[in-house]
Amino acid sequence: MQTLTILGATGSIGVSTLDVVARHSDRYTIFALTGHTRVEALARQCQQFKPRYTVVSSEQSAELLRAQVPPGTKVLSGTEGLALVANHDDVDIVMAAIVGAAGLVPTLAAVRAGKKVLLANKEALVMAGGLFMQAVSRHGATLLPIDSEHNAIFQCLPESFNRDAISTEKNTARQLDSDAQKQNKPANPYGVRKLLLSGSGGPFRTTPLDVLDTVTPDQACAHPNWQMGRKISVDSATMMNKGLELIEACWLFDVDESKVEIIIHPQSIVHSLVEYTDGSVLAQLGNPDMRTPIAHGLAWPERIESGVAMLDLVTAAVLNFEAPDNERFPSLGLARAAARDMADAPAALNAANEVAVAAFLAGAIGFAEIYRVVDGVMQSWSVTEPVDLTEVQDADRRARRSAEQLVRRVG
Ligand code: NAD
Ligand code: MG
Repeated sequence: MQTLTILGATGSIGVSTLDVVARHSDRYTIFALTGHTRVEALARQCQQFKPRYTVVSSEQSAELLRAQVPPGTKVLSGTEGLALVANHDDVDIVMAAIVGAAGLVPTLAAVRAGKKVLLANKEALVMAGGLFMQAVSRHGATLLPIDSEHNAIFQCLPESFNRDAISTEKNTARQLDSDAQKQNKPANPYGVRKLLLSGSGGPFRTTPLDVLDTVTPDQACAHPNWQMGRKISVDSATMMNKGLELIEACWLFDVDESKVEIIIHPQSIVHSLVEYTDGSVLAQLGNPDMRTPIAHGLAWPERIESGVAMLDLVTAAVLNFEAPDNERFPSLGLARAAARDMADAPAALNAANEVAVAAFLAGAIGFAEIYRVVDGVMQSWSVTEPVDLTEVQDADRRARRSAEQLVRRVG
């Protein structure tokens, strides 16, 4: 029996995780469930799964929640509560499914406690990739990607490649590459040439460009294939999601950005691919349902049922692929530039994007302005290597301030 903490239990990934867990009550028990402000939803989950702890963001929400949880569940609040349930000795697995930068500190707490960490919260790795991966190797954590593309790539890579990607000797993805060049040998003996990240192109893949200025948050969140939280849905519409995933892939698999290609695949059935020197291309396929990567991460290296319908290739019939249109999706260029620079550039990119997306969802700026705000922040950003978490958080704060100023100007 393994014990599980879900950070962000009330969200889309959190709910899907509980769905898989409920199918395997002989394997997993819930240690803690955390939410933000949705007290009723969290209370219902606590009634069903009877965790030892539950955590909400404010003491005010905690007071409301205390009246609604079963007798054995202790209610905590704030960042201390999150840290406690992320690194508690009695926890085996932590699902990191808080959205955005708010997930960084508790996810790192789980990593530093050497847990098996299932990473959905890509923003945490994007912000602090170098420090994050260092902590994974130093503390012997097991990091398993839940983002469907990275989970697919993980499944298509040899196990030894994945192990090597997390080793104490390597500090940054870029360093690795230049070290290999200096020694005049290939970066890896496994013949991996390229990672191909697939993305659907979102709801606006074919929308006329001049209409993009007037699209609403609800239109942007109406993803053709995936049911997700609103922030990642907007990121999928701008394709900044794929940009963040590019950076995520560089850290997870210890590769340079030039080795990661982005490809549009509207059906979201081929979740990503790995190209090898001998001409082989391995792909992972499945219906677009996050319960598959979640079940994979939970049970790895075993396999369990996820509740996802089996893929019927004859029904799917057609799988299309196309190159991304950089004019339609200029955010991809911003993310690539940040992936080339690394250091604190991804933290700035992520922070500016979070501010711009929140402003768009709140109706303060238009869809096309999301790019303009992030671009404005990155234009004036001077890249420096953050030496610790405080410096990452400082970069995050500065980029947010600068994005907020731009939002006020363009809004
Ligand atoms: P969501 O908005 O549905 O849920 C977010 C969760 O985080 C909620 O439980 C919420 O209570 C919690 N939360 C939000 N702000 C918080 C804060 N300040 N402090 C503490 N908790 C907070 O989001 P989601 O779609 O489930 O996505 C979660 C993460 O997983 C994101 O990083 C996203 O990029 C990633 N992801 C999601 C999907 C998907 O299909 N939904 C796929 C791949 C990756
Ligand atoms: Mg993804």
